[in-house]
Amino acid sequence: MELLVDSYGRRIKSMRISVTDKCNFRCTYCMPAEGLPWLKKAEILSFEEIVRISQLAVSIGIEQIRLTGGEPLVRRDLPELIRQLKQIEGLRSLSLTTNGILLKQQAQALAEAGLTRVNVSLDSLVREKFAKVTRRDQMDRVLEGLDELAKYPSIHPVKINAVAMRDFSEEEVLDFVRFARDKAYVMRWIEFMPLDADQIWRKEDILTGDEIKHIIEEAHGPLIQITNGDPAETARRYTFSDGIGEVGFINPVSHPFCSSCDRIRLTADGQLRTCLFATEETDIRSVLRSAASDEELIQVLRKAVWHKELKHYIGDKRFKRANRSMSMIGG
Ligand code: SAM
Repeated sequence: MELLVDSYGRRIKSMRISVTDKCNFRCTYCMPAEGLPWLKKAEILSFEEIVRISQLAVSIGIEQIRLTGGEPLVRRDLPELIRQLKQIEGLRSLSLTTNGILLKQQAQALAEAGLTRVNVSLDSLVREKFAKVTRRDQMDRVLEGLDELAKYPSIHPVKINAVAMRDFSEEEVLDFVRFARDKAYVMRWIEFMPLDADQIWRKEDILTGDEIKHIIEEAHGPLIQITNGDPAETARRYTFSDGIGEVGFINPVSHPFCSSCDRIRLTADGQLRTCLFATEETDIRSVLRSAASDEELIQVLRKAVWHKELKHYIGDKRFKRANRSMSMIGG
């Protein structure tokens, strides 16, 4: 079987699937305070549709699937979807990105469904700052969720994702390092991108991965780079001189990695996006809901991927904001 490639020769191996556009947080860099007009139930892909498109995508070379949202844990019966996806032959990695608030109730079901990789988004360890950025005063519930997750060692490693923002994140960099090393979490900082519904993003608000690395190195000495040899790895990864812990920097703005991007995204309403910053989408849902054969669906996937964008143009005159914000795309 011919594998999925785009017209620039990039082999596409990773698919992010948004299972809902709804979220129980209102992060300032993502969603407006009042939320967004939610999709109707009938507009959202069913589990059956998600599993079918995933099976076909895996049959032509997708190796990794990450479930996201909105907040994926608000989708009813998510562990059941995980259980079904886990059975797809050839799928090498299935993971979940969550804000963690429902983990206390759901960690056990997720582990039992076979989930082994979870990323928890956490931008501050200071209650007031957490409440300010998420517009929800619920940091303790996220920390409880993380503690619950620790009871299921099959879910390993747990990654903590923090959006790095100037005049917000700097003072907590070393606290996050301590927290992650103590709890054996893998720490990731991701640069703030212009994907916020409120359009508050300004170039000046980006705190680059290099700046965070500098703060860490001043306190801990030089970091030691590590890699798994995969050119599509999004994070620049490092460990410490004592070998304990891992930190990484996802720098889509200061050091774009488009040339090795191997990702596509499926929105909750079944639109395929071949770039986070895409201005066009392919309507997979209509094809799924027509009488299309598997072969026809595969052709639609191949065609969409073939036209994957060369790069995003953040920082360039040609940059155009995406037609949806992060919560609607699936981060
Ligand atoms: N609700 C889940 C969560 O919080 O992880 C999954 C969806 S959320 C949209 C996925 C990730 O996107 C989160 O880590 C979030 O911090 C990140 N994100 C959202 N808007 C962003 C932006 N403008 N720039 C960078 N990262 C962003």
